[in-house]
Amino acid sequence: MGRFDGRVAVITGAARGIGFGTAQRFSEEGAAVAIVDLDESAAAEAAGKLPGTAVGIGADVSDKASVDAAIARVVEELGGIHVLVNNAGVTRDNLLFKMTEVDWDLVMGVHLKGAFLMTQAAQKHFVEQRYGKVVNTSSTSALGNRGQANYSAAKMGLQGFTRTLGIELGPFGINVNAVAPGFIATEMTDATAARLKMDVDEFRRLNAENNPVKRVGEPADIAAAVTFLASDEASYITGQTLYVDGGATLG
Ligand code: NAP
Repeated sequence: MGRFDGRVAVITGAARGIGFGTAQRFSEEGAAVAIVDLDESAAAEAAGKLPGTAVGIGADVSDKASVDAAIARVVEELGGIHVLVNNAGVTRDNLLFKMTEVDWDLVMGVHLKGAFLMTQAAQKHFVEQRYGKVVNTSSTSALGNRGQANYSAAKMGLQGFTRTLGIELGPFGINVNAVAPGFIATEMTDATAARLKMDVDEFRRLNAENNPVKRVGEPADIAAAVTFLASDEASYITGQTLYVDGGATLG
């Protein structure tokens, strides 16, 4: 018996990184999984690596028509939707005086508008069936991080979005929570190392030194928290943001 037997879980940005690690965990625990990512072939390839029923769907979470078509496909191909993980993300880091409007809009569009559009499309089904779980992906950067005014604002925005939906959707049997990862070893953080002209291993080592548990996080660390929040064990938890950062934000 898996915790997600008979459930359909949709994870955005899941062709790789944290999203793929999360998709693996849902699949191992019995869910049918929809991997939604920009590139349909990458999404389909990732879906093919999962142990259970899975589909890969190409969609841009910041585009309403694309999101509505993706959710319609999930329902048609997997028979419903019970869990939504808003994980898709991009960074366009720069100090404020150099940050372009394009980079501001892109980051807001993927993280904030993307979570809004995906959740709005999914909640119709959740409300009708009086059951649904939403987990949004915030970040420790929500608390402030040099060079990430756009990303930090979007990630803190997601925490407010989460709290508000906790209030609005709780009466309909829908839980809405967020995870806020610290440093997780993925292509996103490898790209940051490259931008800073640092060796990836050295960048990871330095980040590991920055938290009390003295290691960097892995996608599986986030997957464990996301699946807990999306499980029925967590049905009395809503509107919360769980920091999964090895204690990096403890001060
Ligand atoms: P990643 O390896 O860069 O993966 C992100 C995925 O999202 C990519 O497959 C990307 O596709 C996809 N994506 C980007 N824009 C999209 C869009 N408009 N629609 C659909 N999919 C889109 O990143 P990650 O490190 O796994 O991060 C996953 C989430 O965790 C993000 O929200 C990130 O902000 C958050 N997070 C990460 C860390 C960390 O340390 N890694 C820490 C805190 C929070 P393409 O490759 O085609 O662009």
